[in-house]
Amino acid sequence: MKEKITLLRKQFKDELEKLQTAKEADLLQVRYLGKKGPVQELMMSLRDCTPEERPLAGKVINELKEEISALCSQMIEALMQTELAKRIEEEKIDVTLPGRKRFLGRKHPLNLIRDELIGIFSEMGFSVQYGPDMDSDYYNYEGLNFPPDHPARDMQDTFYIEKDLLLRSHTSNTQLRVMQSHTPPIRIIAPGTVYRNETISARSHVFFHQIEGLYVDKGVSFADLMATMEEFLNKLFKKKVQTRFRPSYFPFVEPGLEVDIECTSCNGSGCRLCKQTGWLEILGAGMVHPEVLKNGGIDPEEYSGFAWGLGIERLAMLRYGMKDIRQFAENDLRFLSQF
Ligand SMILES: [Zn+2]
Repeated sequence: MKEKITLLRKQFKDELEKLQTAKEADLLQVRYLGKKGPVQELMMSLRDCTPEERPLAGKVINELKEEISALCSQMIEALMQTELAKRIEEEKIDVTLPGRKRFLGRKHPLNLIRDELIGIFSEMGFSVQYGPDMDSDYYNYEGLNFPPDHPARDMQDTFYIEKDLLLRSHTSNTQLRVMQSHTPPIRIIAPGTVYRNETISARSHVFFHQIEGLYVDKGVSFADLMATMEEFLNKLFKKKVQTRFRPSYFPFVEPGLEVDIECTSCNGSGCRLCKQTGWLEILGAGMVHPEVLKNGGIDPEEYSGFAWGLGIERLAMLRYGMKDIRQFAENDLRFLSQF
């Protein structure tokens, strides 16, 4: 019995010395003092002792039990201190390390262009108005001289929400609202998102952005329209640009026209960007149709005006040499952080 105890004590102390963590010390204590542990086993073997031996043997086993318990507690305490000290050391901030670079937010390229356009037109005396993204057929189409079943409606594949409610297909839906709520002279631009039910590809998307412009006053002429567009384009490209005005058709203007500029990439000699024509289509414009003025509550005998619209994505793609319109909506930071 005495030998057994001596052996067990030695075995315990050997194991105790090898401990690394407080958790291990805890487990060692459970293993030695638990119900099926070696100390309990010794207690059971007291039955085999003679009645004379038994009290002394019992006392010695109890001493061993207390010793193991005390040593384990000490070890747990000591190891917890060590572990804490180690953690504090590890988590200490090294002020000599180089700082981590913080990512700075930037304006989206479309917002950069939009803000630039707003800046140019503000200088020219235009104020900013906003129209709703979701609108009635009247403001988007009918009031702008697109009667029901007018073939020109098919030029813009429209998202209808209900029969008379749609996602605007152009920022021109702002025109009538401004005419109805303002008396001329009216000089406004209306930036915003527009929606078309088109297949998404490198060249088209289901939503994109436009800036609409409207000028209504007494005696506004076609020459004013041309001069304003030329002035705008010169400011935008920061040089005198060559322009070309081509007749075109939009129901809400008469006459309607497309404005081209000399290709910014080849200066007119022909390249892939301009499809060898030397010209880039930049905006649509025209004199406000008398019917539209009437719908806006403005007498076409007394007033005249012009309107124009341009695509912000298109300008941004020209400016940054981009080939895929989808990049604007993909939120890829590798793309966005270039601006
Ligand atoms: Zn070109």
